[in-house]
Amino acid sequence: HSKEKGGTVAHFFNESMRNKYDDRLLIENSLRLVVDKGDFELYYQPKYRFDKITSMEALIRWIDPELGFVSPASFIPIAEEIGLILQIDRWSLIQACKQNKEWQDRGYPKIPVSVNISAKQFQQDSLVSMVKEALTVSGLAPEYIKLEITESVFIKNLDYVASIIKQLKDIGVLISIDDFGKGYSSLYPLLQLPIDEIKIDRQFISDIHQNMKKSRLVQSILSMAKGLQLNVVAEGIETKDERNTLMSMGCDELQGYLFSRPITAEEIESLLLNDHAKMK
Ligand code: C2E
Ligand code: MG
Ligand code: MG
Ligand code: MG
Repeated sequence: HSKEKGGTVAHFFNESMRNKYDDRLLIENSLRLVVDKGDFELYYQPKYRFDKITSMEALIRWIDPELGFVSPASFIPIAEEIGLILQIDRWSLIQACKQNKEWQDRGYPKIPVSVNISAKQFQQDSLVSMVKEALTVSGLAPEYIKLEITESVFIKNLDYVASIIKQLKDIGVLISIDDFGKGYSSLYPLLQLPIDEIKIDRQFISDIHQNMKKSRLVQSILSMAKGLQLNVVAEGIETKDERNTLMSMGCDELQGYLFSRPITAEEIESLLLNDHAKMK
């Protein structure tokens, strides 16, 4: 009897393994095609200071005719593995710069756009030239670009990474550490490198109002950041309780579903117009 059961389990197990393998191949192949065509879309998620939009983050979206919506959380790591991430980040960066410049030219408030940059970009020489290229083709001033990089960039080849960051700062773009606290959290970059901003990872933000340890930790991060003159963003705010707690702690900027999900460029335009109207 138990053998029969085992057989059934093994059968389902094999099925699901095979499907996973097929899915992966399908994603890889479709990804190669869409990267060649540059057939992505860029969504934007605003960041707020009180009820005013201070900047926005560009987040890539891939809607495949066969696969449907594929989350960047699943295709970015694959793109990193199979060597497509350079082209993807290049596409996002150029697109974000062009869009930001277009908004500025059309009279929208001038606010920076944050672009996520894979840690893989720090393993080669092209990041600095990629940023220069994006500035040239878009005509955007460098102070409107913020590059979001994750802590994992600072694990190895620190001298090399430091030289790249300094070159980027010389160009005039801003540097933000994304998902701060999530992984390897070293304080070294904050001390040694010209970092402008940290984004506290969502895991420290969710339910912060009812978690004493979290709130003390975040309070400490905030006072450290203030001492170092770093801008602090809390990411992933979903509830009013979380918002109120972070605001009372004096966090500079807030971002999350409570305020807005990532939305299309068109939708951002009407948000910016409303925002502008409110200020008058
Ligand atoms: P990230 O940079 O940490 O971006 C935050 C992610 O959390 C986004 O997911 C965003 O939609 C989501 N998020 C925002 N507010 C909330 C909230 O209140 N609750 C919850 N549960 N989630 C929230 P998304 O758009 O799926 O992106 C996932 C990750 O993919 C990003 O994490 C980023 O690391 C990466 N990514 C996105 N676009 C690019 C890109 O152009 N290049 C690279 N290298 N990575 C990208
Ligand atoms: Mg980010
Ligand atoms: Mg993040
Ligand atoms: Mg995160």
